Parts: sequence; C-alpha cells; structure tokens
Amino acid sequence: MDNQAQQALTQALESLEEWKNSFGAWKPDATLSISEEKIEEVFSRLSQKLKCNYPFHHPVYAGQMLKPPHPITWAAYAMAMSINPNNHALDGGPPSSEMEKEALAELAKFFGYGDTYLGHLTASGTVANLEALWIARESHPGKKIAFSSNSHYTHERMCGVLAVEGIKIPVLENGQFDLNTIDSNEIGTIVVTLGTTGLGEVEPLDQILPWAKKHGIRIHIDAAYGGFFRSLKDSDLIDGTQWQLMQEADSIVVDPHKHGLQPYGCGCVLFKDPSVGKFYKHDSPYTYFTSDNLHLGEISLECSRAGAAAVALWTTLQCFPLKKEEGFGPIMAKCRQAALKGYSLMVNSKKLQPYKKPELDILTYFPVSDSINSVSQISELSKKVFDAGMRNQSFYLSLFKVPSSNFIRLYPEYEADEEYVTILRSVLMHPEHEEFIEELVKRIESHF
Ligand SMILES: *Cc1c(COP(=O)(O)O)cnc(C)c1O
Repeated sequence: MDNQAQQALTQALESLEEWKNSFGAWKPDATLSISEEKIEEVFSRLSQKLKCNYPFHHPVYAGQMLKPPHPITWAAYAMAMSINPNNHALDGGPPSSEMEKEALAELAKFFGYGDTYLGHLTASGTVANLEALWIARESHPGKKIAFSSNSHYTHERMCGVLAVEGIKIPVLENGQFDLNTIDSNEIGTIVVTLGTTGLGEVEPLDQILPWAKKHGIRIHIDAAYGGFFRSLKDSDLIDGTQWQLMQEADSIVVDPHKHGLQPYGCGCVLFKDPSVGKFYKHDSPYTYFTSDNLHLGEISLECSRAGAAAVALWTTLQCFPLKKEEGFGPIMAKCRQAALKGYSLMVNSKKLQPYKKPELDILTYFPVSDSINSVSQISELSKKVFDAGMRNQSFYLSLFKVPSSNFIRLYPEYEADEEYVTILRSVLMHPEHEEFIEELVKRIESHF
C-alpha cells in the first residue's frame, strides 16, 4: 500500500477508535489478557506455519483460482470486524446491512437487473447456488434441474441435498448443449455457466434462452467464477454475446471472493423476480424487530453472516467501480490479455501446446516433444513439470484431467493408452500476470 493509502487508513482507524472510546472508560476483563511473551511465541510460530502456503500473492502463482484480497479490502474488513456486525438482521449491524444493500444494488445493475430484484451475499458460491436451486425447486415443484456436463459438481450435489432430480446435459463439440437428449416437459430450471471452473468456458446462453422461454423453463446462471468478466462485454477482448444476455436469466450467482478482490466468505445470489422472497418466509421469535425495513435475514438461508464481508465489498466497489474503463474493467482486461498472450506464446512454442483457446483467463496446455506420442506420456511429463516448478519455487501451476476421448478428438496424433490425460492449467487471475506471462512460459519451458 502506498503512503497516502496508509495514512488514510491510519486516520480511519483512529477515528473508529475514538468512536469506540466515546462510550466511556472500560477495560477488557483479566480473563482475556495474554502475556507479551506468549503473544511473541505464538505469533512467531504462526508466521512460520503460514509461510508453508504457496505464494498466492505473487504472479509466480499461476495455479488455481486463488489470490489475496486487495489491501483496501482487508483494511475495511478488519475495521468492520473489530466491531463484528452480523448481517442476519438489521439490528445486528445497521450500517453493514445498508452497505450490503448498496453493494447488491451495484451488482444487480452490473448484471442488467432493474431496480426490482432480490439478492444478498452468502458465505460462498456453493451456498449461493444452493439457494438458487432451492428457489428453482420451490417455484417449479416436481420438475427436474438440468446442468451441463461441464458445470461445477456442486449442482449435482445440491440436487441431492434438495432431493430434486438433476440431469446432466452433454455438451457438443461446438459448445452447444445437446438438448435432444432431454425432455423439456420434465425440466423446471436449467443452469448455464458463464465461465466454467475447469477451462473458463462460456456456455451458450443464446442457445438456451429461446428454448427455455418456449418451454416455460427457468434459467439460472452460475457466474461464480466468470461474473466480473461482464465488465468486458462491450470490449473486443472477449466475445460479449452471452454476457450481454445475463439480465434475461431468473437468477445469477457470482463469487466476489474469486475475481472480486474479496477474502473468502463472499458469494452472492440475485433473483430477477423479488416475489421469490415468499419462499424464504419464516416467523422467528429470535430476530429483532425495530424496523419495518427489509431484514436481510428474511431473504437468506444462512442466519448469521459477516457484516464485515459486506463492508469490505462495499468499500472495494467505491474504489473499483464495475465499469469497462475504470475499476474492474481494466483489471479483468489485464487477466484476459495475460491468457491471450500466454496462448500465442504457446502456439509458437516448441515445448508447450495450448489445449484449447482460452475464452477468459484460464489457460490449459501440455508439454510436447518428439518422443511423446501417447496420453500417458503427456500425463507423466505434465506432473513432472508441475512438481519441478514447486520444488524450485519458480512457478506454481495446477493439473487438469481431461477424458482422453475428448483430447484425442482435438489431437488425434496421440495414442489414447489411458482413460484420462493430465494436462497443465493456469488461472491467470492476477492483473500482474499480463506482464509476467512471458517469464512464466520461459520458466516452464526450461524445465524439460
Ligand atoms: C467456484 C465455483 C463454485 C463454487 O463456489 P465456492 O465459492 O467455491 O463455494 C460454483 N460454480 C462455479 C462455476 C465456480 O467456479
């Protein structure tokens, strides 16, 4: 953080401290005191332990969907957390509840929903999707929920939790859903993923929309990973077709704790039709009733929720608006450019071959050489490269398993001597990857 930001933060903390002290003198109870030696000893051990993490903060980390929150985000989180408001009910934290509503309004506007929507933050994308599928079940009782074979495994699992029958739709080679395999009369809701977790693929909302409308089927968009890429919908960096249609969906999930610069504990679900709020109805004697305003606890499956998460997101959105030219747009553009740059470097590489052209910022690739002619050899070398990078602390990648039958369709020159092939995968979600990608590719190539 630069000096100016540091100063602003110190001032904010002091001002909060003043407010805390304004209630009169008090001191923490003796049962809560810890000796200086103890603190020193424990925290010295703690810092040693934490250093056993992979360097998620650094562009050498190009593995899974992981990065630390922005410094202003954790500063805001820490400030709010020192008070620890609970966004279950308005009285649990009036300012943080207000900030949640404001942040949600920003997200709803960003996704093209009008002023009438319903939504809230959740602990995660999993819980957000669970709520969306629960509303799917409640609004279309007895009907099935469909999702593609590339969707996150949570949808199948949550159908189990909700005791709804889930149907997996095959995806054709051109990316379209194979709708001929399902009976539209049986389906109540279909899930469309904009930004799949594995390859960052954008599913064909434009194919599903007219079909779903015709058959009275709801659409749920899982944009847990990809959501923030909507900021590029009108740029020439991505194909904006599907992103421009998001407002047509009945519900949307996005994870601010993935691309939204937030710490874990921040998912979000939005419903286009606010009347689904009726399904959340409860009559709890525990909640507080000092206001007739909407209680977030009345439209959320979770009860206690971190008010600090809402404060952190709100603060982030003040500093980084959801715009193409400012705030999130330029960040997402850098990540996207990193993937495009990496792709073209690998297309021209003698040692690495991209598996597919990335649609967002997830790059998948595999090692090539004259002596490799089977998928088992690709798997073996991929794992070797993966291990070597970590051992030398020079790069951190992830492994990705592809059914060999899919792989061979694109690369028929290899022998499919095993059922799956393991390839390499990099989620380039640091804007710094745009500059680092050249060095990263060089480092990977130097390892075999
Ligand atoms: C990450 C992800 C999820 C699950 O979200 P969590 O926040 O990890 O619980 C669901 N769907 C997609 C597309 C995801 O990328």
